[in-house]
Amino acid sequence: MSEDEPMNPGPQWRRTKIIATVGPASSDQETLREMIDAGVDVFRINFSHGTADEHAVRVGTIRAAAAEAGREVGILGDLPGPKLRLAKLEDDVAVLHSASQVTLTGHASAGLGTAERLKVHWEGFAHACSVGDTIFLADGRVRLRVLRIEGADVVCEIEAGGAVSSHQGVNLPGADAELPDTGRQDEEWVEFAIEHELDLLAVSFVRRPSDLEKIDWKLAESGADIPLIAKIEKPQAAERAEEIIAAAESGIMVARGDLGVELPVEDVPGTQKHLIKLAGRASKPSITATQMLATMVKASRPTRAEATDVANAIYDGTDAVMLSEETAVGEHVVEVVRVMDRIARATEKHLPYDDWVFNRVDARDDDVAEAVAQVAVASAYRLKLAAIVVPTSSGRTARLVSAFRPRVPVLALSENLSTVRRMNLLFGTRSALAPADAPLRELLEECARIAVTHGVAKSGDLIAITAGLPQQRLGTNLFEIHRVP
Ligand code: PEP
Repeated sequence: MSEDEPMNPGPQWRRTKIIATVGPASSDQETLREMIDAGVDVFRINFSHGTADEHAVRVGTIRAAAAEAGREVGILGDLPGPKLRLAKLEDDVAVLHSASQVTLTGHASAGLGTAERLKVHWEGFAHACSVGDTIFLADGRVRLRVLRIEGADVVCEIEAGGAVSSHQGVNLPGADAELPDTGRQDEEWVEFAIEHELDLLAVSFVRRPSDLEKIDWKLAESGADIPLIAKIEKPQAAERAEEIIAAAESGIMVARGDLGVELPVEDVPGTQKHLIKLAGRASKPSITATQMLATMVKASRPTRAEATDVANAIYDGTDAVMLSEETAVGEHVVEVVRVMDRIARATEKHLPYDDWVFNRVDARDDDVAEAVAQVAVASAYRLKLAAIVVPTSSGRTARLVSAFRPRVPVLALSENLSTVRRMNLLFGTRSALAPADAPLRELLEECARIAVTHGVAKSGDLIAITAGLPQQRLGTNLFEIHRVP
């Protein structure tokens, strides 16, 4: 692919989406507004940290900042899931020394943690462990080996020592069915997400498709429709990725933080590539997450390796790249978004769009909308179209068009505000509110007018517009090549 952009849709155009985690460093309206102006498409609220009251205020502030900026950004709620955590420690920190021993206990009545005895927030913990298992603390920096199990106590040798803190995660790479059920905690956050009209929900520590079904049922029970993203952070999930991707309406997050503890670190790059590829084959979006520009938590520039990591995720075909601590607790929360934006734009000049249109998706024989999506994207190259305009109620057709990775802008129009906001996750897609119930001819003309208003086409340009005839009950079943008047 040449470096110049023959169908350049303008300097503001970036196809890769940027997700930024909101935290103490990025909670005020002015900062959020600056982050939106710098290029954030979706804000992530991590329910593993903070109270419901704090998050409720954050949701309101994000909506206010987006209104001020005149953009519909998405809000993604990240459910804690069955993550094992240490309880509170005396003085909040303890140093574990290599070659000595520590006992991890699930006893509900255990006191504050010390360097000799640490409480884990799960009474069934000892049942999930076996002699010889490896346990990681402190994000993988501390490694333990199980020596023996005595009732609820798990006695371990400290193979690699270091400091541990209150409420840090405990990783048991081998454990599967024995992990605590998602339970009440996630349910309460699902209720929060419904009440505060969040746009997307990420489900943590998914191990099998039924982990998503439980959340889907809870949403359906309340009559809510928030698409789920499966976080792939357990080896078991990576092994069953195809089934999990099929069950996750809004695709997957390659959650490299926990994945890199649960898997040997050298296996993370290959797993990332494999997962993004599988998501693409199923026309589902993918997010690449964690430590992308971690140096910028403190420094004003990333390392070359970090810039290359962001670019490589984009070359792999990710829809979105995510900032975690960089924007939650970092010192350069606006600049880090600008840096990510620049890396994405520079990388997008070199993507294999003309290969992706034919070889990225496993197109299904019986999916009419998917066939229309592919033809629309292929036509964009052949006829040098300026844009593809996609009226969509649920966002499905926009997701299908995006999966074929058109080089030209996709303008996705919906009458549903939640659909408009959640489509911020889709590669190459801009979304906007537009009324839907007009006769077909008027709808097509309106689409062309909106394309001009949004700056993706001008008078005389050819654009593709997809549409669905309701009587046919086939969803999106046609497209028109339209000359913009
Ligand atoms: C991760 O583990 O990479 C991740 C995104 O999850 P969390 O930040 O919730 O640990």
